[in-house]
Amino acid sequence: MSGIAPTLPPQVRVFVRDWLSSNNILLKGREGHVLIDSGYARHAPLTLALLATPQGIGAAPLARLVNTHCHSDHMGGNAAIKARYGCPIALPDGEAPLIDAWDENTLLLAYADQRADRFAYDEVIRAGETHVWGDLEWQALAAPGHDMGALVFFNPEHRILISGDALWANGYGFVMPREVDPRALPATRATLEMLAALELRVVIPGHGEPFADVGAALARAFARTAAFEADSLRVARHALKAVLTFALLDQRRLPLCDMPAYVERIGIYRDFNARFFRLSPSELAERLVAELEKVHAARREDGWLVPA
Ligand SMILES: [Zn+2]
Repeated sequence: MSGIAPTLPPQVRVFVRDWLSSNNILLKGREGHVLIDSGYARHAPLTLALLATPQGIGAAPLARLVNTHCHSDHMGGNAAIKARYGCPIALPDGEAPLIDAWDENTLLLAYADQRADRFAYDEVIRAGETHVWGDLEWQALAAPGHDMGALVFFNPEHRILISGDALWANGYGFVMPREVDPRALPATRATLEMLAALELRVVIPGHGEPFADVGAALARAFARTAAFEADSLRVARHALKAVLTFALLDQRRLPLCDMPAYVERIGIYRDFNARFFRLSPSELAERLVAELEKVHAARREDGWLVPA
């Protein structure tokens, strides 16, 4: 997947994290340092430690924290960073009402068995604006699909994109089936078309290494979108697998005997099952576990489901 090694301007630092915490992108500037995305709440101590290294900002202040979108793995460290640095938090204007209401359903928190510490934001960013972060100009572009309020940040000078979960080297963040949100898949396709027209040189994704082979990544994303458009059940299955994999990374292991009760208890499994699969809780649990095993995301061990 690496292909051509991407080069980034020296003031752009990427802390590549994992699938529980989003990457943290540090833009170091003469006028102050800006951090894009704060990782998952459980990993906030590591996020703070990385930021305080010499590769980060050392003992310098942080001027601003910006979110690409407000999922738990991108905003979970917001509260901890604000407590440490006292910096303003800027987030996409489409996300602001959800943060105001702190609706654990629409934010996919309790609804998906995920957590984030509540925080207050200070500024909103609108699509079409240009901001100077790390001495570079970044255009905020609307990137709805995986998250309908998401923004991506594009630097025209170096043709770099900070993509959040709108484009990864292999795919993008899970999308709601059309029966749940009829806007999501058409928006996903439109966002990919918008990104394809930017002639990007490097993408800094929300998860995984920065990559330069953008054409291949877009081809994979378009292929996935076509498969999703043809089959709502596939979209629903993919979402539940992504959410279960996340829960497994968060909690490190889940008791197999509790899985049927778990998929009954957590809203997204219960709702998707009623709408798409109509299986008994134990059938749904068994099917999800088997699918995670098949793609080597998880394995069974002594009565537990553990990350593979
Ligand atoms: Zn996301």
